[in-house]
Order: sequence, then C-alpha cells, then structure tokens
Amino acid sequence: MNDALPGGTARWEPLEQIVRDWLQSYGYRNMRTPVLEHTRLFARGIGEVTDIVEKEMYTFTDALNGESLTMRPEFTAGMVRASIEHNLLYDRPQRVYAMGPVFRHERPQRGRYRQFHQIDVEALAMAGPDIDAEMIVMVARLWKLLGITDMRLEINSLGQADERAAHRAALITHLEQHRDVLDEDGLRRLYTNPLRVLDTKNPAMQAMADAAPRLFDFLGVASRAHFDAVCARLDDAGIRYQLNPRMVRGLDYYNLTVFEWMTDKLGAQATVCGGGRYDGLVELLGGKPNPAVGFAIGMERLLDLWDQYTPAVTVPECDVYIVHQGDEAQRRAATIAESLRDAGVAVIVHAGTGSFKSQFKRADTSAAAIAVILAGDELAAGVASVKMLRAAEVSTDSAQQQVPLDGLVAFLKDKV
Ligand code: ATP
Ligand code: MG
Repeated sequence: MNDALPGGTARWEPLEQIVRDWLQSYGYRNMRTPVLEHTRLFARGIGEVTDIVEKEMYTFTDALNGESLTMRPEFTAGMVRASIEHNLLYDRPQRVYAMGPVFRHERPQRGRYRQFHQIDVEALAMAGPDIDAEMIVMVARLWKLLGITDMRLEINSLGQADERAAHRAALITHLEQHRDVLDEDGLRRLYTNPLRVLDTKNPAMQAMADAAPRLFDFLGVASRAHFDAVCARLDDAGIRYQLNPRMVRGLDYYNLTVFEWMTDKLGAQATVCGGGRYDGLVELLGGKPNPAVGFAIGMERLLDLWDQYTPAVTVPECDVYIVHQGDEAQRRAATIAESLRDAGVAVIVHAGTGSFKSQFKRADTSAAAIAVILAGDELAAGVASVKMLRAAEVSTDSAQQQVPLDGLVAFLKDKV
C-alpha cells in the first residue's frame, strides 16, 4: 500500500480531472459506494472459484454483530448492488462511474499493490453491441487525451451460458486427458471452473492450454453476430484489435464481449484496462434482469504510463509568497493574503518569523512566481515591494518594485 506525498498528488489530481472530463463527455455520472460490503456480495458477484475470492480479499468479522465484511476488491459488485438497492434502473439505463481505492492481498511488485485505485465505468441496462464498442472507443480516446500510444487491444467473446456449457463439457474431457500436466490450481478447478484453468501462467501447461477446445468455436449465430457487430464498429472508429480466444478475464460473471488494453511499457503487468459484458449479474444479485457492460482501469498503471509519455512538471505551491518583518507586517500580510484569495490568487504567508534570507529561500522552493515583501518603513509609507521570482519574468534584481498597498491586489491579480 502506497503513500501519495505532496509532489506525487500533483500528478494524481490532474489525472483525475482529465478522467472526469473524459467520462462526462460520454455522459457518465459519478457514484460513490462504500469500501466495505458484505463478503457474500463479492463471493456471489465475482464468483467463489476466482483468484480474488479464493485468496485476495481482505475479509474480517465485524466484532459487533459477527457479520463477515470485505474491503472491496473491485467496484462492479458494489455498483450493481447500489443500483438495485436504489432502483436506478427503474425507467432508464444508466451510465455511471466510480473512482477510488480497492484492496487485494497480492504479492506486491511494480504495478501490483494491495491497495490500488481503479476507474470503474458501467453501462447498465443497455444490451447492444453499439455500447460495447462505444466503451472500447472511449478508452482509446483516454489514451489519446493522455498522449499514450502503442496500446494493444485484445478482444474475445465468451458467448452465452448454453454455449459455455457445451464448451465446458468438451474442455473437461480435454483436461481429463491431460491430468498429468495440471498443477494444483488446475486440478482443483478442473470441475469447478475449467475455463480458468486455461488462464494459467504456468509454462508447463501452455501446450495443453493451446490445444484445448476454444470457446470461440462454440459460439452460436447470435453470439457471433454480436461479436461481429462490435468488430465492425471498432473498424469504423479505426481501432485495431486482435482476437484472443484464450482471454477469459479474472471474474466469473462475463458473457459475450470481453476486452483488455495492454502495453509493453509496464514490465510484467501488461494490462491497464479490462472489461466486458455481464448480462447476468444484475439478476444474480437480486435485481430485475438487466444487461450490463463495463470496464476498469488501474490508476497506478495508468499514472506510470502517463509519466513515461508526458513527464511531470513542477506545480508551484502558490502564486504569491508573502515575506514579512515584524509583528505589524505579519498581521497585514494575513489580511492582504485573504483579499488576494478573494481575487482567486493562491497565497502562502510565511509562517512564524525569520530572516529575509531564510524566508526568501522558502519562497523560492515554493516555486511561487511572485514574492511580496512587507516591512517597516515601506509599510508605514503605504507600499509593499513586489519581486518577480521566476527567470522567465525578469532576470535581475531590479525586478523588485514598489506598489501602493491599496492597488496591490489588482496589480498582483494581473501578474499571475
Ligand atoms: P491482473 O491479471 O494484472 O491481476 P486483473 O484481471 O486481476 O489483472 P481486473 O480485476 O480486471 O484485473 O482489474 C482491472 C485493472 O486494475 C487491471 O487491468 C489493472 O490495471 C488494475 N489492477 C488489478 N490488480 C491490480 C493490483 N494488484 N495493483 C494495481 N493495479 C491492479
Ligand atoms: Mg488479478
């Protein structure tokens, strides 16, 4: 779990702003759900036989009433629960998003943390391939907005329940024939979640997985048509993609379209965005049957990428830094600073006392564009000294000038 320190949050905040504007441009509205949910929500909503539910959740018993609670390992289950609970889908589809921390007990490494952040986007009660494609296209727009190139898109279709059942039977037969190469996870999942056996990273199982029957080949006419319609729209948008018939995604609840956006720039953690359709989830969680599709982006991975493509610039702590000498000047500084803030100028008043030299040193590290100096004689004469601190403005010490106190706010507002 990471601390974001002052310099680092300067990177998070503009990213969040870009993301909010981007989501708004597609009509998505913000939702905020609790970090804690009942464990059974995730067990049902994500699936018992998944990495997340089997070994990654932070689960504890509420000491007050003995309920089992879990810190959300992803957003979708909570978003769907809230939509059902508040009847959001009563008479209209919803485009919603959430952004915030999620928790998974994983082995930490670059791009893989135990508390990380997701941008989670959900389109509820929309069934068509048009919306699947729109979601993929909108992610492509985010890459463009952030100046990120070389992203790879992989897509697949998981079909519908009956198609998966037919495939599952064929797959189990195949797995049974290759029992000898299955690892512990593979054996355990053979009958509970055979599709996930193919999702293995174990090199000894790759040949067996490559030769396994492909779910894609079991798709019926309607599922194929849905998939083809998504592809046609991606072609319209000029987005390149690759069919990956092995992609099943980590969660149990997907059907039809699934997709992942990957990169080579993040070492082993290649996936930045993953999503797909999950038409059965709303009903599974107790709502009226409603189709849904969504995706999640890992913000730490996104930030890492953004840093590589668009290096950070230093963000000043304020526009104006006020240095002062003497009790009277310090009090005037506080009053003037409030007037400046009224005018929309960001101000730091040097805290406490100190020599001009030490105060100017702080002013300089704050990266403020302007220092205002309030001291004895000048103050008595009703003026302040204003000094431009940034090289781009002026380069010599003559850049210091006197400005009458009653015109100071207007003068500074003009300069920042
Ligand atoms: P992975 O295969 O990398 O474990 P996942 O399939 O578990 O990913 P999802 O559940 O689809 O990931 O989550 C969506 C996104 O959240 C991922 O594409 C990734 O960018 C990010 N993500 C997932 N787990 C972590 C983690 N432990 N730390 C940081 N980011 C993560
Ligand atoms: Mg994972």
